[in-house]
Amino acid sequence: MISFLDDNFSQLNQYIRESEPSLLLLLVDENTHEYCLPTVLANLETTIPFEIIEIEAGEEVKNIATAAQLWEILSEFGTDRNALMINIGGGVITDMGGFVASTYKRGIKFINIPTTLLSMVDASIGGKTGIDHQFYKNIIGTFAMPEKIFAYPKFLQTLPFTELRSGFAEMLKHGLIASAQHWNNLKGIELTPENIEPYVVDSMNIKQQVVEQDFKEQNIRKTLNFGHTIGHAIESLYLQQEAPVPHGEAVAAGMIMEAHLSYSNNLISQDALTEITQAIISIYPNLSIEHFNQDDIYNLMLNDKKNSNGIIKFSIIDNIGHCLYDYEVTKSQIEDALQYYKDAYLP
Ligand code: NAD
Ligand code: ZN
Repeated sequence: MISFLDDNFSQLNQYIRESEPSLLLLLVDENTHEYCLPTVLANLETTIPFEIIEIEAGEEVKNIATAAQLWEILSEFGTDRNALMINIGGGVITDMGGFVASTYKRGIKFINIPTTLLSMVDASIGGKTGIDHQFYKNIIGTFAMPEKIFAYPKFLQTLPFTELRSGFAEMLKHGLIASAQHWNNLKGIELTPENIEPYVVDSMNIKQQVVEQDFKEQNIRKTLNFGHTIGHAIESLYLQQEAPVPHGEAVAAGMIMEAHLSYSNNLISQDALTEITQAIISIYPNLSIEHFNQDDIYNLMLNDKKNSNGIIKFSIIDNIGHCLYDYEVTKSQIEDALQYYKDAYLP
């Protein structure tokens, strides 16, 4: 499923040679067109016809209007069911491209070449595709597996630092929920593409292994939501104020608070909590949450699509490297966790 590309992209060429698609559809956004597509094209060795499709960059275009445009473009190209869509980009491209491919003519094959850290270690893996609709993120979509994921961590070299740091939060999460070794490798490293590159494979494997055990998120896949219950609420409140924060920064804050829930439930020691907090605050800026109403945060968590019947279920760690899911905590424990985060950056 996951292959790492050498500098000649021979694994990609071999896959195309063996699968013999009728047409290659290379989907990029304006940035991956500039920074990543030239490398792909320079290495692509094939006589199969190909088309390049570019969309604008950004979450704003991950919608039904863009999907409809892409379906139309595929029609114009006379795309048949043996065509192969090649998604070259971040999570927006892999989510959108996967969605359009999995719905066009009831599904054509697609592969992902993730180019952001977030798409490498998270979005390109696991078969969730989709688009946003009205005010809801990823509300329309399919479960559809890419045929292959081709990773080329050198693409990280042109990624803006804030995007790198945002994606890195998912890597830290992988360590905390599934591998103390991975966590130890990552904590304290200086965030440069070169330093992160060697560990991308471990994060990709963790995500892939979790998803293989529980594709439809009935049990262990829920552990990937660690940091995301409180994190999403904070992310939504910032979005409502039209001051969006990067997803990974909200997740990083969420991981501190949800680690505090572990601590207040006697699942991890104070030392472990301190270790997690220090590692995260040394990288991520303080998302000051003082100006948010605690009830707003709480209600957003209650309304999260993953919760029902007025009960908030958390994925929380009971050790560095292991995670529980469907864990219920009290409202006062959540309040304590929020307070803990507010104090965490104080000198
Ligand atoms: P993104 O695709 O918008 O990429 C971020 C920015 O980086 C964009 O401006 C992009 O053009 C640019 N970029 C991409 N590669 C680059 C490179 N190599 N060099 C320079 N610039 C580059 O966003 P993202 O953070 O990759 O992904 C976020 C999306 O992923 C969200 O829509 C989210 O819902 C989705 N997601 C999906 C899953 C899933 O399981 N399907 C999981 C997590 C996130
Ligand atoms: Zn996430």
